[in-house]
Amino acid sequence: MSVHPFQKFLQEFVPLVARKSKQLNQAMWILETTGSPDAADLKGQLDAEVRLLFNDSKTYEQLLTWDRDKKLKDPLLKRQLNVLLRAFKQNQISKELVEEIAQKEAQLARTYASFRPALDGKKASENDLREVLKKETDVSKRKKAWEASKEIGKLLAPQILELVRLRNKAARSLGYEDYFQMQLDLQEVDADWLLKTLNDVGKKSDEAYKEVLKEINTALQKKFGVKELGPWAWSDPFCQEDPLDSSELDQLVDGVDIEKASTSFYHRMGIDVEPVLQRSDMHERPGKNQHAFCVHIDREGDVRTLNNVKPSIKWLETVLHELGHAIYELGFDSELPWLLREPPHMIPTEAMALIAGRQAYRQEALKGLVGTKKEPFLKKADHSLKRRQLIFSRWVLVMTAFESELYRKPKQDLNKLWWNLVEKCQKITSPKGREKAFDWACKYHLGLAPVYYFSYLLGEMFASSIQETLEKECGATALTSPKVGKFLREKLFRPGNRMPWNELVAHVTGKPLTGEGWLKEFGKTEAGLSVENSFFLE
Ligand SMILES: [Zn+2]
Repeated sequence: MSVHPFQKFLQEFVPLVARKSKQLNQAMWILETTGSPDAADLKGQLDAEVRLLFNDSKTYEQLLTWDRDKKLKDPLLKRQLNVLLRAFKQNQISKELVEEIAQKEAQLARTYASFRPALDGKKASENDLREVLKKETDVSKRKKAWEASKEIGKLLAPQILELVRLRNKAARSLGYEDYFQMQLDLQEVDADWLLKTLNDVGKKSDEAYKEVLKEINTALQKKFGVKELGPWAWSDPFCQEDPLDSSELDQLVDGVDIEKASTSFYHRMGIDVEPVLQRSDMHERPGKNQHAFCVHIDREGDVRTLNNVKPSIKWLETVLHELGHAIYELGFDSELPWLLREPPHMIPTEAMALIAGRQAYRQEALKGLVGTKKEPFLKKADHSLKRRQLIFSRWVLVMTAFESELYRKPKQDLNKLWWNLVEKCQKITSPKGREKAFDWACKYHLGLAPVYYFSYLLGEMFASSIQETLEKECGATALTSPKVGKFLREKLFRPGNRMPWNELVAHVTGKPLTGEGWLKEFGKTEAGLSVENSFFLE
């Protein structure tokens, strides 16, 4: 059989991409673990070089020709072609426009990083304001801090709107209606399906959310001694996190070595994470990124995680989460070509990480993780997981519906749209006088990580479907047996990017992705009912 010209192209092209992206990941790792300005420069430069590899319009034309070629039949070759087509397509925007967008994004990032609103005559950082919302009991002080956290909106709104205009212009130059539609299409997500699915999840979990909200409101009214609660009663500026104090749950990990507990957790599934931990950077240090992530440096098995472990249940969850990403990356079929040694979307790898993280709150797994002594806390941990799932799902509904409208009709009254969605989804009433406050513009992701938020909730939904499947296939409700590990490796990890993410979902669970599993797990009322309320995302 003769070699197709596309194969020849791959033989030359892939080693270039593989080398550059390895260098890029190495520079990123140094930057995130040290904060070195040299590493930042190098990363910026390598970023641009990698992008340049996918820029050439003649190559793109050639790829399109091969895409029409009936002789190209091999599924792995066709999938690689599809991956390349989507990567090249988003780089076919005019160079001037790409540069303009990059400049505006950099400017937005600078404004975001440097702005400090005044609080009681002093300049306050985002962390200062979050501290107030976490700890302060004086309601008027809380209100002031919340208002200060929204100051930045007025400054960012015109910059974000300018970016929306440019992003839409770029999307239209590629034949899309707007940027939201383009982003979803390039990620193989159907826009109508997405909004319909999220609306369905919102509708069917509305009553369960109301119940949880009642519990929260009662506790907060008691805590602050007031009847009327504002959004400043919550412990974060967007009401996206569980405001009920769960620091008592940290007692669960008292005296527990989080790395050891995580290692033995994965060991019970027959998976060795020791080599990953050895390459990882686990503890706090000045200059280091304060969050957590996992990276596969070379697609050859050099997988590392970055963490800042402290003795809290949150960090047990986080370490389990990042190692979930790690075992996924290590589980690809080693026969797969380089281009397909990645998840087809962040949804499935998030799903794996999320199920692993949830085990930190699951009675059955917790016993294995921290011992059985702390029985009374185990039930509380389970309920706090449900509360967090419901709260966060509402926030994703707001973000996704807002973004779809923001790009569809950027000239509408966005302040009104924002508070309408917050009131409908989160059921948090707008304080007076927010009509011209640009509260929507305060959320970092809207400007700098656009059309991304929905993946978190789809990841949670897929996580619940996988959980259901595990119960059926392996008779296990928790990730505690080698059988479960084997199933995940073979079904979820092994295919890599051999197929689109929605086909992978069906490959693992036997059916397309819906909210049903998630609703069964978190969407029922305390009486065990699932109640449907009318609920429409605009
Ligand atoms: Zn993750």
